[in-house]
Formats: sequence, C-alpha cells, structure tokens
Amino acid sequence: MHSLEDNMTTQITDLTHRLLLPDQPAYDAARIVWNAMIDRKPAAILPCSSVEDIQAGVRWAMAKALPVSIKAGGHNVAGHAIGEGALMLDLSGMRCVTVDAVARTAWVEGGALWGDVDRATQAHGLATPGGLISETGVGGLTLSGGVGWLRSRHGLSIDNLLAADVVTAKGDLIRTDATHHPDLFWALRGGGGNFGVVARFCFALHPIGPEVMFCAPIYPASVGSGPIRHWRDFVTQHADVLGSLVEFSTIPESEDYDRAYWGQRCYTIAAVYAGDAAEGEQLVEPLRHLGPKAADFSGRMEYCDVQRLFDALYPTGQYRCYWKSHLLTQLTDEMIDEGLANAMTNPSDRSISSFWNFGGATACVAAEETAFGERNFGWMYSLDSVWENAEDDEKVRGWTRDAWQRFRRHSHEGRLYLNFAGQDEDSAALTRDALGKNYARLARIKAAYDPDNIFRFNQNVHPSDKS
Ligand SMILES: Cc1cc2nc3c(=O)[nH]c(=O)nc-3n(C[C@H](O)[C@H](O)[C@H](O)COP(=O)(O)OP(=O)(O)OC[C@H]3O[C@@H](n4cnc5c(N)ncnc54)[C@H](O)[C@@H]3O)c2cc1C
Repeated sequence: MHSLEDNMTTQITDLTHRLLLPDQPAYDAARIVWNAMIDRKPAAILPCSSVEDIQAGVRWAMAKALPVSIKAGGHNVAGHAIGEGALMLDLSGMRCVTVDAVARTAWVEGGALWGDVDRATQAHGLATPGGLISETGVGGLTLSGGVGWLRSRHGLSIDNLLAADVVTAKGDLIRTDATHHPDLFWALRGGGGNFGVVARFCFALHPIGPEVMFCAPIYPASVGSGPIRHWRDFVTQHADVLGSLVEFSTIPESEDYDRAYWGQRCYTIAAVYAGDAAEGEQLVEPLRHLGPKAADFSGRMEYCDVQRLFDALYPTGQYRCYWKSHLLTQLTDEMIDEGLANAMTNPSDRSISSFWNFGGATACVAAEETAFGERNFGWMYSLDSVWENAEDDEKVRGWTRDAWQRFRRHSHEGRLYLNFAGQDEDSAALTRDALGKNYARLARIKAAYDPDNIFRFNQNVHPSDKS
C-alpha cells in the first residue's frame, strides 16, 4: 500500500518532467504577458490541463518552498501572472466552457478567455458580464470585480458568480458557493487571486442578443466638454440599461477617418444597450448628435462582435503600459474638464483614458455581500497609458502618476479599481485603499486558506494583517 507521502512523491517526480525550465525553448514563450514591460523569470512553469495538474503543481511548489503565480489570460497590467523565482501555473490549457442552457449557468475553466465564454454562451442566446476585450482572462478580471458592457442590467462579473472550484494552498480541491465555505466565496468576489487557484467558475447567464445596439460616435476633442456633460446626464437616467464610457484617444492614420482628423485627440461616447437592439438604437440616438463628429461607428451588431471590437487595439506583448484608476462618487463639470485636459496632454498618442458609468444593477448589491465592498460610487476614471519605446517609460509613467495624483482629490473615499491599479508602487497601500473596510476580514480569510502567502503575486492581502 502506498502512503500519502509516496503518492505525493510520485506526483512530484512525474511533474518534474513536465516543467518548463529557463533553459528550455518553450519557457520564454510561456512567460510572455500582455504588458511588454514585464520581463520576469519564474523558477519553473507548469502547463496545466486539468485540476489534478494544478493540485500537483501547488504540492510541488509547497515541497520546494516556492511561491506560486497563476497565469490565465496574462492581461494583468502589473504582470501579476509571473512571479520572479516562483512556480508559474499556466492555465492556458484549461479553457473549456460548459453551458447548461436550461439552468442558465456556465462552468468555465480557470484559464478561459472572455471570448471563449461569449462564443459558448451566445450559441444559446445567453451571456454573462465579462470585460470589453475578448482576450482578457476570466480569472483575473472576475476575481477583482469585472467591469463590462452588461453591468447596467446584470452587474459586475462577481455578481454573477454562483460557485467556484478552488485548489487551496494545501493542494486540496474544494467547492465554494453561498453555503459551502461561504467566507471563501465572499473573498473570491473582489479579493483577487489571493485565496487559491480557481480551477472552474460557475456563472449565471442572461438572455442577450445575438444582436445588440452599440453606440460609438467619435467627437474631436476640439468640440470641448459639452457633449460629455450631456452624456453624463443621459446615462445617469438610463443607468439600468446602458453600460457606457467616454473614451479619450487619438485618431489614427486610418482611411476610416477623414485625413483632416488624423493625429487629433478625440473621445468616443461608447455604450451598449443591454436589451432589444432596435429599442437600444432609438434610445442612444441623442448621444450621436451632440456636436460635429470625426466618425460614427454606431450600429446594431452581434454581441460577440462587440466583445471583439477593440481587440486589435490591444495586442499581447507589443506595447508598454501603465494603468491607474479612481472610483468617483459623482462626475462634476470640473472633473470632466480635467479629464479632457489630461487627454490633451498625455505624452503618448497610444494612450487612452475613460470615464465609466455605474449605477443600475451594479449599485443594487449590498456592501457586505461581496469583498468588492460598497457600491455607492457612480463613476470610474481610468488612465490607460500605452507607449512603444522603453526610453519613454519614465516620461509616460511619470505623467500618468502625476495626473492620477492630481485627480485623487475627487476620488470616492480614496477607492480605486484593483484591475486598473498601477504597478511598482506601494501595492499594499493600494490594496488597502481599494478594499477599504473589507481588508481586515479578507486578511483573516487569507490566514485561514493561505497562511504562508504562497499566492502572493496579486494585489496582496497579507495573512499577518488579520488583526
Ligand atoms: C487590454 C485589456 C483590457 C481590459 N479590459 C478590462 C475590462 O473591460 N474590464 C475589467 O474589469 N478589466 C479589464 N482589464 C483588466 C483585467 O481585468 C485585469 O488585467 C485582469 O487581471 C486580467 O485577467 P487575466 O486572467 O487575463 O490576468 P492574468 O495576468 O493571467 O492573471 C492576473 C492575476 O489574476 C489572478 N488569477 C487569474 N486567474 C486565476 C485563477 N483561475 N485562479 C486564481 N487566481 C487567478 C492571479 O492573481 C493572477 O496573478 C483589461 C486589461 C487589459 C490588458
């Protein structure tokens, strides 16, 4: 008879042959993440294709006293998927989505991308709120909240999470939901990747599409902030059906635009109506006539196409990036003017910044229900700086930090969105600011599930902060 130790030794021995090590050709490709600034070297990478692989990886790391990092979509802008000297679990071989169209639920493997979820669920006329880019990972986006087009009617991604199968720091597999390990289930909904490896997520689904109304008039920044003020008032009235943002950017040298506009700063008033496409088309019409436009990409289109619309702007591993955010109680004229002024002075033409609306279903979740906490903020301001060359790192990052710092006086109780949190700064302070009153409870749960903090490559909740 084999003892547990023997079995573990067998797993560990087997695993050694499957690890990607720094001298192997596939190692470098596996450690590429979305932000080209990230160049960290894990001690080893384990490509996972099953729950058992994850368990074996966690146990192997435990035996070697190595911390564990988790890579799903690799979109984390701070590069948390990769830990220097850690064992990296690469979940990209775990992207299966299983839909129960009758129960309106989907089980989604921990390495899936939102495009995988959208394709599988739309085959049944259903969807669950994800992000705006189809190549973002379900794992990272969900665990820190998850903000997408459908938030108006269906809330954040975490508001649709029904259950999760989690591999803990001990290598055990447990199912958590509202009644099983409810403390862990609460922590997963906003507390990030601190508490274990989610092997499978179960989401609630809602009827959507296949066609939805996508609104996207583009106004040159020279028209001023008037249209944004109208937008603010309009989406406030329709917060329960319109997921929307005003996105500042630079008009590219593309035949889609009149050459006269090339290189000019602009903003897109983008919105998705979470309901009947024809109804949505009528509703958003006023947003398309708020001033002279540089272009208008509005139209009815398939939900999956809307979800892929911006993918080409965000290729993996190509650009250097630094993103930050503030949650806002209200959006005043002064803030709008400051946002527009920031957009005019951002040193990189590739950068984007946005005002996002909230309210609707997002605001209906009680503060104590999820680790994400209070929903009494109405807006978000995000600064998504993107540039090409390493020599511009300090210039663009410095500008972004300064703009974020100046805007901080407007922030809602100092809160920010942990998926747009920045990098290299005092991560502990940012995490505390974002999680606010919930931080101490999260630290107690962390101490129970990961006392040695082996899952530390994230917006880290430290187990020793529990008192
Ligand atoms: C181009 C782009 C567009 C984006 N758009 C949006 C958007 O519309 N809405 C929004 O809310 N956010 C958006 N984000 C932010 C995004 O949510 C975060 O960057 C998120 O961390 C990405 O998730 P990922 O799985 O791809 O990340 P990864 O880099 O793979 O993982 C990041 C961290 O998440 C945790 N994690 C991931 N998977 C698991 C798992 N299965 N179990 C446990 N922990 C896990 C780990 O801590 C890991 O270190 C965007 C980011 C990018 C780069």
